[in-house]
Amino acid sequence: MKSIGRSLGIAMVVIASGVSIQAQSLEEGSKERPKNVILMIGDGMGLSQVSSPYFFSKEPPAFNRFKHIGLSRTSSADAPVTQSPAAATAMATGYKTYNFAIGVDVDTVPRKNIVELVSEKGFMTGLIASSSITDATPAGFYAHQENRYMQHEIAMDLVRSEVDFFAGAGIKYFIDTTGIDHFAEHGIEINFTRLKKIKNPEPGSRYGFLLGNERMKTMLEGRKTFLKDATAIGTEFLSSGSEGYFLMVEGSQIDWAGHGNQVEYMIAEMNDFNQLVNWVLDMAERDGETLVIVTADHETGGFTLGAAGRNGYDADYSVISPTFASTNHSATMVPVFSYGPGAENFTGIFENTEIFHKLVSLIGTD
Ligand code: MG
Ligand code: ZN
Repeated sequence: MKSIGRSLGIAMVVIASGVSIQAQSLEEGSKERPKNVILMIGDGMGLSQVSSPYFFSKEPPAFNRFKHIGLSRTSSADAPVTQSPAAATAMATGYKTYNFAIGVDVDTVPRKNIVELVSEKGFMTGLIASSSITDATPAGFYAHQENRYMQHEIAMDLVRSEVDFFAGAGIKYFIDTTGIDHFAEHGIEINFTRLKKIKNPEPGSRYGFLLGNERMKTMLEGRKTFLKDATAIGTEFLSSGSEGYFLMVEGSQIDWAGHGNQVEYMIAEMNDFNQLVNWVLDMAERDGETLVIVTADHETGGFTLGAAGRNGYDADYSVISPTFASTNHSATMVPVFSYGPGAENFTGIFENTEIFHKLVSLIGTD
């Protein structure tokens, strides 16, 4: 009996240590290094927004395709409920800051962002948004200004930046009384009319598409496949470099639908974003060397997919009646979905600044 007990004991130890080795290596994360990173931000996209394509989209929900899922805490340095500038700065620079800051810390000191870091390593970089490209979310990835409303200064930060490709709206913010063509001055080939493929780019050339004075159309107004087309053109161009690329794509208007408490608008913007994520995942599956992160800067509107009816008496659980609790942002955690080399590092519950730190540890250091 004693010897059986002992051998069982040994067997237990072996199994236990096997488990612990596995747990340790999972915790440390994969050292696999992605060549490219595509960070997709649904502005205002909480879990109910993410759930809406499951009920209201003809296309399969893209979120089902992720194996690695985490939750991000979004509070800023000065408020439990963040604004987009602080959230973008947190993800882009790793610094929590005050709510209106763009790329500067709580003391208004400019902090290096992921675009600047990877550009030094020879990466190509791009930004796409369905709002003005000078809006808070994209601005966090290239600008350093004390206030999000300094849109002309932010625009000038973009032309002076290392960003190789951009697409969105915001023409008016690039025009000033000097009469200087700021695009030409900084070697940017600009297009104000439509997206088109970039043929035979010269090394070092930069391209911009600004297709609206202040903002892009909503999906309901007929924006069509702008985000997907810009992403296709952008990724093809950014792949022409010798190193990898970093691309941030924002579904900007999920947030606007939330502020407006507009259900139909919200669903249309989420279906567009869902389609875009499916397209990006198809591409990442084919190339096998692109890390895709899909997250949000915060939730907007306290959106919920409640059953119809006011209370137990007239409730109808066969019907979803989407509603909003607020016209503001909320403090709820937001999901982080990741796919591709290094994806296993983005699980668990973490601060939004970890998006930056995890990316830097994967691609930002040698
Ligand atoms: Mg935004
Ligand atoms: Zn907002």
